[in-house]
Amino acid sequence: MANSSDPSSCLSFTSSPHISNASITPNSSASDPPPTPDLLTNLSSNLGRLLADSGGDYSDAEITVEGVPVAVHRCILASRSEFFAELFRRENGDSEQEGKPKYCMSDLLPFGHVGYEAFLVFLSFVYTAKVRDFPVEVSSCVHNVCGHEACRPAIEFSLELMCASSVFGMPDLVSILQRQLIDFVLKALADDVIPILVVAFHCQLSQLIDQCIERVAHSDLDSISLEKALPDEVVEKIKILRRNSQHCCDPNMPAVDPLREKRIRRIHKALDSDDVELMKLLLTESDVTLDEANALHYAAAYCDPKVVAEVLGLGLADVNLRDSRGYTVLHIAVMRKEPSIIILLLSNGARASEPTLEGESAVSICRRLTRQKDYHTKTERGQEANKDRICIDVLEREMQRNPMAGEASISSQITPNDLHMRLLKLENRVAFARLLFPAEAKLAMAISQADTTPEFAGISSLKGSSGNLMEVDLNETPTVQNKRLLSRLESLVKTVSMGRHYFPHCSEVLDKFLQVDLPDLCVLETGTTDEQKIKRQRFLELKEEVQKAFDKDKADKNLSGLSSSSSSLPPKKVGRKSKVMTIKSYQNQAGVLVKNYLLADPFIPYTSVIGGIILCKMVYDLTHLISTFYIKAYGSLTKIQRIEWNSRGISSIHAIFITALSLYFVFWSDLFSDQQHLGLITFRSSPLSVFGLGVSVGYFCSDLGMLLWLYPCLGGMEYVFHHSLAGIAVAYSMFSGEGQLYTYMILISEITTPEINMRWYLDTAGLKRSSAYLLNGIVIFLSWLAARILLFGYMFYHVYLHYDMIIQMHTYGYLLVFVVPSVLAVMNLMWFGKIIKGLMKQLAKMQ
Ligand SMILES: [Zn+2]
Repeated sequence: MANSSDPSSCLSFTSSPHISNASITPNSSASDPPPTPDLLTNLSSNLGRLLADSGGDYSDAEITVEGVPVAVHRCILASRSEFFAELFRRENGDSEQEGKPKYCMSDLLPFGHVGYEAFLVFLSFVYTAKVRDFPVEVSSCVHNVCGHEACRPAIEFSLELMCASSVFGMPDLVSILQRQLIDFVLKALADDVIPILVVAFHCQLSQLIDQCIERVAHSDLDSISLEKALPDEVVEKIKILRRNSQHCCDPNMPAVDPLREKRIRRIHKALDSDDVELMKLLLTESDVTLDEANALHYAAAYCDPKVVAEVLGLGLADVNLRDSRGYTVLHIAVMRKEPSIIILLLSNGARASEPTLEGESAVSICRRLTRQKDYHTKTERGQEANKDRICIDVLEREMQRNPMAGEASISSQITPNDLHMRLLKLENRVAFARLLFPAEAKLAMAISQADTTPEFAGISSLKGSSGNLMEVDLNETPTVQNKRLLSRLESLVKTVSMGRHYFPHCSEVLDKFLQVDLPDLCVLETGTTDEQKIKRQRFLELKEEVQKAFDKDKADKNLSGLSSSSSSLPPKKVGRKSKVMTIKSYQNQAGVLVKNYLLADPFIPYTSVIGGIILCKMVYDLTHLISTFYIKAYGSLTKIQRIEWNSRGISSIHAIFITALSLYFVFWSDLFSDQQHLGLITFRSSPLSVFGLGVSVGYFCSDLGMLLWLYPCLGGMEYVFHHSLAGIAVAYSMFSGEGQLYTYMILISEITTPEINMRWYLDTAGLKRSSAYLLNGIVIFLSWLAARILLFGYMFYHVYLHYDMIIQMHTYGYLLVFVVPSVLAVMNLMWFGKIIKGLMKQLAKMQ
């Protein structure tokens, strides 16, 4: 929430003199008259200038953070923080060193992590007693429609700041941050609360710890992930809380079998010690299967990639299995942000487009976890690329290659227990949706055909909302039943994702309702009359929220149908905040609009082809005009010769244009460089590259038109064949975006066209015996050698190196890269032989 684009940051944050005043007042003695806020503001901004480094460098120490040295003033740090006072005192006692004393951030911190940007914000608070706006690039994610209210980067940045202010003893900042983090706890996903809880525990922030524990206890986070991430005493507290609330809330919870639980734990322990052999032994000993133990999920979350590979290698695991929370193994790997495991899973058949129960794909999970800085940092050549960025690229590449894979049916190997849990959850969600948003729910269900499949009879909390829920057919065999339930599951998952797609705000309200309010409402059902009153009031509030969300969805729909997935802003506080959020949602939509319609301009191919044709006509007329005035021989040519003369003008200009562009793309531009991580080289394109190819297609069209119009005066069948082939190949590459690099490499061979044309001009103008003719011949020889022989060799070598990417292209693209260049290479070699012969003849004549 605290980035500069968000005006609400000034509300919750204390850039106002009001709080900075409060943080300083305790230091002034009671007898002094209180200083006016103006003077304090001046003092604060003057001290802040020390950091801005504008008027000379008076710093006397250096703290290195993430490899970057930050200059600091010891007197200020020591006067504001006990920690630094102690640190500098100790250092001074040692001995007088030469130069400024240097410190390293990682040596100063007993726990946690503080990044460079977070340290700068911290320093600015130390100097000025004001909280500066958080830098956007480290406190927001790269998800298209995220409002960055409580996404992982925003949380992590606050946590870094919290670490710094807690360790270095800035209680004012700690309390400001604690308020913000408590706000995060309410809004964030349950998984994102874990890191907050860890930091809160280390910093001993009891209020924040309680909030986190409350939230985690009511979430569906499983005990394994809690035990892995949290200190024992916290886990214990959560467990007690859960045990207490379970009795009154969920009597239908399936009972756990302690023996089975123990066996599963053993399997996990075997994985912990990287012992896949032991795990195999345990599996054969017990009746627990690999999938029932969620062993692959466990390995993907906590083990070395090698262990994941070994587990996959057993061939026993279903890669697309969902765990009790509805996550596939890929979702788990994405949350861990480990590219090697992601690639491993994808290559073993994991479906990248499979959504979570909340309708999020793996890519969108990943984007929500990735900081803008990590995504946009350009990697230097030879330097290791950012892992987060690779994860996103890998997943997007996979989606591009196989976008329909997610439509495949839900795994049939799902365990009955899992199936019932998931059905119950989804059935609940859809039932609430029908209660709260009847019209939208009906639509979403109709699209997903959820209204035709029989309902799963397990809804306990909504008795009576529908007539025949508890009806059970006793004649049904288990397989038939399983099939029926699976088809129900499939249609429910689709319903939820449809709802998310078309009614994002309604879905948000529903999310919040199911996460936060439902447990409370259930508990209050048995409460006193006062509590029931509160409950009723909350229900009325909820209804109001529902109406608002509905209006918003309707307004959005009228504006555009673009919002593709839900944003993470739960409509919480009304008034100014909701206005801010409305503005933000418009901003998001504008962003999507620009991205979908302007940058990826679908009209570029057409406009550029038409532009190319018009340019050809212009060049034709210009050549005619210039030649009439400046070339004497032009006047004495026949009509057909003049037409050919002008059309060669077109081909020369086109050749120069396309050669320049090709050289730029192949040798200078970053677009097709291996160091860029923009997806497969064979699938890369940019508006400029599409435009260039479009102009070229326009040229081929108009030239072909002239060939046919005056057939066979300008050229025979072989020219028609060549131009059609070239035109089709370039057009395919332009429209599909495939293999543009190779298209441009081949187009470099156009560099010889102006010289060939020059030869014809000289010939036609009767200058066959001039030295210009000979010079032109040599230039033809050299450029032909470079562009049509050596470059082709380079191209085939490039194809060889990137073969793995090329086989992923469509069949036409594949043919384009292999057949066309091979044919051209053979033709080029034959012509080259002729050129050498001709040149030899000429040289012999001259001597
Ligand atoms: Zn975000």
